[in-house]
Amino acid sequence: MPTYTPPLRDMQFLIHEVFHLAEELKPCPRHADIDADTINAVLEEGGKFASEVTFPLNRVGDEQGCTLDAKTHEVTTPKGFKEAYARFIEGGWPALSCDPHFGGQGLPLVLNQCLYEMLNSANQAWTMYPGLSHGAYAALETHGTEEQKRTYLPKLVSGEWTGTMCLTEPHCGTDLGLLRTKAEPQADGTYRITGTKIFISAGEHDMTPNIIHLVLARLPDAPQGSKGISLFVVPKYMVNADGSIGERNGIHCAGLEHKMGIHGNATAQLVLEGAVGTLVGEPNKGLPAMFVMMNAARLGVGNQSLGLTEVAFQNALAYAKDRIQMRSLSGVKAKDQPADPIIVHPDVRKMLLTAKAYAEGGRALAIYCTMLLDKELYHPDEKVRAESAELVALLTPIVKAFLTDNGHVATNACLQVFGGHGYIEEHGMSQFVRDNRINMIYEGTNTVQSLDLLGRKVLSNNGATLKKFGKLVAQLVEEEGVNEKMAEFINPIAFLGDQMTKFTTEIGFKGYQNPDEVGAAATDYLRVLGHLVFGYFFARMAQVALKEIEAGNTDPFYQAKLQTARFYFARLFPETATLMRTARSGVKVLLDTDAALA
Ligand SMILES: Cc1cc2nc3c(=O)[nH]c(=O)nc-3n(C[C@H](O)[C@H](O)[C@H](O)COP(=O)(O)OP(=O)(O)OC[C@H]3O[C@@H](n4cnc5c(N)ncnc54)[C@H](O)[C@@H]3O)c2cc1C
Repeated sequence: MPTYTPPLRDMQFLIHEVFHLAEELKPCPRHADIDADTINAVLEEGGKFASEVTFPLNRVGDEQGCTLDAKTHEVTTPKGFKEAYARFIEGGWPALSCDPHFGGQGLPLVLNQCLYEMLNSANQAWTMYPGLSHGAYAALETHGTEEQKRTYLPKLVSGEWTGTMCLTEPHCGTDLGLLRTKAEPQADGTYRITGTKIFISAGEHDMTPNIIHLVLARLPDAPQGSKGISLFVVPKYMVNADGSIGERNGIHCAGLEHKMGIHGNATAQLVLEGAVGTLVGEPNKGLPAMFVMMNAARLGVGNQSLGLTEVAFQNALAYAKDRIQMRSLSGVKAKDQPADPIIVHPDVRKMLLTAKAYAEGGRALAIYCTMLLDKELYHPDEKVRAESAELVALLTPIVKAFLTDNGHVATNACLQVFGGHGYIEEHGMSQFVRDNRINMIYEGTNTVQSLDLLGRKVLSNNGATLKKFGKLVAQLVEEEGVNEKMAEFINPIAFLGDQMTKFTTEIGFKGYQNPDEVGAAATDYLRVLGHLVFGYFFARMAQVALKEIEAGNTDPFYQAKLQTARFYFARLFPETATLMRTARSGVKVLLDTDAALA
C-alpha cells in the first residue's frame, strides 16, 4: 500500500526562505498580519487532513468509482467520500482563501495552493469536488451580479454547495465557438437553457445538497463562433428568496464516463431541458468571464500533477531503498544482504531524481505564481498589481502544461522503479500514472496551452512580457555572476536567457510569414521556456541553500537541495538544446507529409 507524508519542510523553505511570503505580502492590507506561525500551523493541519482523511480513500475511489441511478439521475460517490467532504467543511477548509465578506478566512492564496497540492497527492479524484468550486467562486465574484453573489458565494465559500464548469459538448471541446446549447430569455429576466454537456467533472454527486453549474450557452441572436457565447449560472436545485433549497431544476445527469483514471470523480453527461439560469456578466461575453474560472482551473490542474509527482516520488524512493536486486557495478554495497538495494544503481537514481526535481521545481513555480496572484488581487500599488497579473498570465500555461507533462514523465519513472510490481495495482503506482494522464488533456490540452503561450502571451506583444521574466533572470545572473560556487546554476540560465530572445524572434518571424510555423514550434517552445523558469527557481533555491551551508547550517535539507539542483541542471535542463533544434526544424516536415499520412 502506498504512503504519503506532506512535504511541509520544502513548502516552508520556499515560503519563508526563498520567497519571503509574509514580507512580500505585508503591503497588502488583507495580508499585513500574516506570519510564519500561522502559515506553518495551517500547512501542518492541511497536511494532516490530506494524509489522514482523504489519502486512505484514494484506492477505494479508484476501485469503486461512482455509480449513477438511471431512474433518479442521482450519483453515489465511493464509500467514505461524502463523510470526508463533511469533515472538510467542518474544518472550514473551503473558506481558507476566500473573501471574509462572503464568510471566507481571507488567508493568502499561497496557503490554498499548498493545501491543494497535498490534497492532490492524497486523492486527486476526491479533491476535484471542492477544487472546481474555487473556480466557480472566482468567476461569480468577478462577474456575478450582487444577487448572484449573495445567493451563491456564501454557500460555495462554506463548501455547503459545490460548483462545476460546463463547457464541453459532444462535438466541441477545444473549439468552443462550435457550441450549440441555447439560452432563451424569459419575461422574468431568467433564461431557459437547453442542450447537452459532456465530460463535466463533479457534475453530479451526493456530497452536497445543491450543485452550482456555470454553463456556456448561446442567446438566440448571438453572433457565430466564440463571440456569441454567454455564461449562465444554473443551480441543480432552484434557490428560494430566503436562501433555502427550492424546486429541482431541469438539469440531469444522463450518464457517467468510464475512464482511464480519477475513477472517484464523477465525469457526467449533463442534459439541460429548459433549465432555469441567470446571466453572468454581459451577453456574448461569456468566454472572457469563464476565463476567470478556466485560469484558476489551469493552475489547479498543474497542481494536480505536482501532487501526483510528489506522492509517486515518495513511494518510489521508499521502494528503491528496500528492494534488493543485483549488485552495484562498482562492488558490493550491502554486505549483509544477498543483493544490493536497487537505489545503488545509477539509472534508478536518475528516475528518482527526475521525479524529485520535477516536484521541487514545480512546487517553486506554483507557489511563486500564487504569490503573484495574491499581489495581483490585493496589492495597493496599481503597478505591482498590473505587473503581477502580466506575469501570472505568462506563467499559467507553463504551470498547466509543463507540470502535467513532467508529471507524466515522473509518475512513469516512479512506476518503472517498481519494475513489474509497479504495473500491477497493489502498490498504487499504476493509479498515479492513470490519474495523471487526464491532466495533460483537460482545461485546454497541453498543445492548446503552448499555442496560448507562444501566440497570445509571447508573440502578440513582441515578447514584452517575456522580457519582464527575462529581467528577473538577468537580475539573478548579475547578483551571482561572480560567485564561483553559483556558476554551475547561473551559467546555464544566463546562456539560455541570452538565446531565448533570438529563438523567439526567429519563430515569430517565421510565424509572420506562415502562421502554421507557430503551431509547429509551440509545444517545444513551451518546454524550453518551462526549463528557463525551472532553472531560475532552482538557481534561487541553490542560492539560499549555499548561503545556509556557508553559514554553518548542517541541516541535510540544504545539501539535498543542492544535489537535486545539480542533477536538474546536468540531466534535465539540457533537453532545451534538442527542443530548440526541433522547434527550428519548421513546419514543412510536418505538413508536407500527405503521402506519409495518407
Ligand atoms: C475526465 C475528463 C474530465 C473533464 N472535465 C471537464 C469539465 O469539468 N468541464 C468541461 O467543460 N470539460 C471537461 N472535460 C473536457 C476537456 O476539457 C476536453 O476533453 C478537452 O478540452 C479537449 O477537447 P476534446 O476532447 O473535444 O478534444 P478535441 O478538441 O477534439 O481535440 C482533439 C485533439 O486535437 C488537438 N487540437 C485541437 N485543436 C487544435 C489546434 N488548433 N491546434 C493543434 N491541435 C489541436 C487537441 O490538442 C487534441 O489533441 C473533461 C474531459 C475529461 C476526459
